[in-house]
Order: sequence, then C-alpha cells, then structure tokens
Amino acid sequence: MTKKIGIIGGGQLGLMIAEEAHRQGAVVYALDPAPDAPAFAEADHHIVARYDDLEALERLGDATDVLTYEFENVPGDILRHLEGKYDIRQGIAPLFDSQDRLREKNNAARHGLPVPQYIPLPACSADEDCAEVPVEMTDAERLEELRAAVSTIGMPCVLKTRRLGYDGHGQAVIRTEKDIEQASALLHVPCILEAFVPFDYECSLILVRDGHDTIHFPIGRNIHKDGILDLCIVPAPGIYEGTAPDGSIADENLTPPGREIISACTAFMDSCGYRGILAIELFIKGNTFVFNEMAPRPHNSGHYTIEGCTTSQYAELCHFLLDKPLVTPRLKAPTVMKNILGQDLDEAWKIVKEAQGSITNIAKRDNAWSGAAGEGIYAHIYGKTESRPKRKMAHLTYIPMTAEEFDSRWYGRFYPNNRNI
Ligand code: AMP
Repeated sequence: MTKKIGIIGGGQLGLMIAEEAHRQGAVVYALDPAPDAPAFAEADHHIVARYDDLEALERLGDATDVLTYEFENVPGDILRHLEGKYDIRQGIAPLFDSQDRLREKNNAARHGLPVPQYIPLPACSADEDCAEVPVEMTDAERLEELRAAVSTIGMPCVLKTRRLGYDGHGQAVIRTEKDIEQASALLHVPCILEAFVPFDYECSLILVRDGHDTIHFPIGRNIHKDGILDLCIVPAPGIYEGTAPDGSIADENLTPPGREIISACTAFMDSCGYRGILAIELFIKGNTFVFNEMAPRPHNSGHYTIEGCTTSQYAELCHFLLDKPLVTPRLKAPTVMKNILGQDLDEAWKIVKEAQGSITNIAKRDNAWSGAAGEGIYAHIYGKTESRPKRKMAHLTYIPMTAEEFDSRWYGRFYPNNRNI
C-alpha cells in the first residue's frame, strides 16, 4: 500500500525529503506557514498553517501514515499532544532535547559526549528546567551574573540564547570587558555562556538509527561565513586516509580520531534511544572533538550526500520512515558543497549555464530546479520566490572535487576579493 508521509515544515529540507519520498513511491503532504514554501512545489498536498496551529497539524496527522519534521521549533506542548495521537516515527525526544541549548548540552554531557564548559544564565541547576528569566531580575543583576560567569569561564567565551538561535543569530562572542555589556542585551531571555573552543575546524556527523542498525555518513569539514554554512568539504582532513581501489571512501579509511568520533556519536544516539536521523555538529582540535549542537532532521551539511554518496541523508530518512532497511553509505569521490545564499545566486546560475552551455537532466517544478549541470556540477535551486542576501536559495555540489581544486578554480567566483578558503 502506498504510504503517506507528512512533513512538518516546507523549506528546502522538506523539498529534498519530498523528492526522495517520491522516488521511493510515497505520497507527500507538507505543512508550512509560507504559501510559497519550497516543498509545496514537490509535495502532493500541502497545508498552509503556523506551527502552533494544532487543528492544522492534526489535519496533517489525520491525512498521513507517518509524520516527520524538518523544522525544529514546534512548541513542546503541541508536540506532546501530536505524539499521543500520531506516528511521529522519530519520537519527539530528540526534537525536544535540541530545542534548548541548556537541555541539549546537559543531555550530550550525560550521554558521554565532550562539551565546552558552560553556565546557564539565569543560574539554575543542571536538571532544572528554568526556562524563564525571573521578572523581578533587574538589568544590573543580569549584567552582574554575566560578569561572574565570564570570570569563571574566562575570555573569550560565547553568550547564546537557549532557544530559537540559528545561523549565528542570538549569540555574541565576548573577547573584552566592553563586549560583556553589549552581549548582556541578550539576557532578557534565558541564555548559556560557553567557553570559546579554539577549534581547527568544524564538522558534522549525520546518523540514521532504526533500532536494528545505525548508519552514518562520511564526515566533512564545514566552513561558515558570518555564522552560516558556506562550504562542506568531504572528506574532512585528519578524519580519513587513503581510498578504496575504486576511489570511494568509507569507514575502513577512518583515522583513529575519526573512529573515535563515530563510536562516541553512535553510542550517544543509542544511549539516548533516539531513532531516525540526527546531525551532530562538532568542533575538532587536533585529535580531539567537542560537541556543539545537534539537529534531528536532515542537515545543510548533508546536502552533498545526494550526489556525493552511494545513498543520501534524504534516502535513509525515507527508508526509516517507510520501514525499509537502512543502507550504509560510501563517499563516491571527494566532494565539495557550496551553499548558495541570495548574494551568490546570479553567480551560481552563471556557473550552471557555463558548465555545458545548457542545463541538462533538470527536474523543474514551479521555480525549483535540480539536476546535473555537467562537468561534475549538480545544482539544487529551491525555488524561493524572494532572494535576499544571507537567505539559503540553492546549493551546488561538485564531484569529484578537492578543497585545493575548489580553491583554485571556484572559490574566487563567489569571493572575488578573497581567493582562498
Ligand atoms: P551555533 O549556532 O551554536 O552552531 O553557532 C554558530 C557558529 O558560531 C558555529 O558554527 C561556530 O563557528 C561558532 N561558535 C559557536 N559556539 C562556539 C564556541 N563555543 N566556540 C567557538 N566557536 C563557536
């Protein structure tokens, strides 16, 4: 029988889940507040509604066999209600745990992942769910508490709002005394202060667990610009060495630090009892790693898996949702993914058009395009009606492509004044 998947959220992640769900023969419903949400171009049915509209979410649940989410900030009480009534296959625990940075870090530490030193503001004990700033607390008291926390952790450190932060929003790096006062503007909502991790680079590990098997995707190096993911370079340096005779890369090519990351993150997911997809962002310093945050949904850094791997993060999420066995991925060849923000979109179109003089194998739905542009460049253009600087509009995946080749041939196309990664 054809299965119906309901996706809470209709952004580009929802679009790519829907594309894959269709490949696997499912029917897709998507819910999003924006009438022009990218996933609506691919979904068979859609519901325009807010994420706190219980009646609309119930319509989504009633119409489908299994629910998933690509948006993280559905209110907790609504999630609990939906979980009692519908098959939210991943459960709500990973979503709930990732919605609050304090809960997220407490949970990571409790389940064996190394975390940076952190202090909740306002102060509360590790298990306390102190999600509000006491109304009687004055600005001066909040500043005082921040100063005390900064002197405990030391500078540099990072102040982050506990909830609703994304792409560097809701955070401030504190390097000097002067920064403390500026950062204190965030303290009208609960925050955590974290030690600044002097990492060599950032990476993320994407895992899928169905209760029998846990699979994971190759680890790439993530490069951010202004807090937003810019490039994902796979394989990450220091995590893999060598290749199989066919040029592919997988676990047998892991270095000891790479093996340690995979085993700690797999054990974390098992120990939490999470099912479905989980992306874990890490900081790497030498042979050590530190947990930063997690997301129980496909991840921007995993877009590369569509063409770069033998199976993608979207395919494995759909396997999980549709009760199909999980497939272990291999990296076909070194791959680079470039996120295309509003400011990059014209250049991305130029690159796609130059690659073969014309676009080939493009699936077109409304304004969304995806397909092979030739010369090992694959384009995914999300069809968002309004392009704005810093808005994620598309991504390009280059395969085979090393960081060095990307640097010398492509990086300057996006950053003419800054030619090196
Ligand atoms: P986040 O939203 O927590 O992923 O933070 C956005 C970006 O800020 C990260 O990708 C890092 O580049 C940087 N960042 C966040 N937390 C820290 C930290 N504790 N130490 C160093 N850099 C950080």
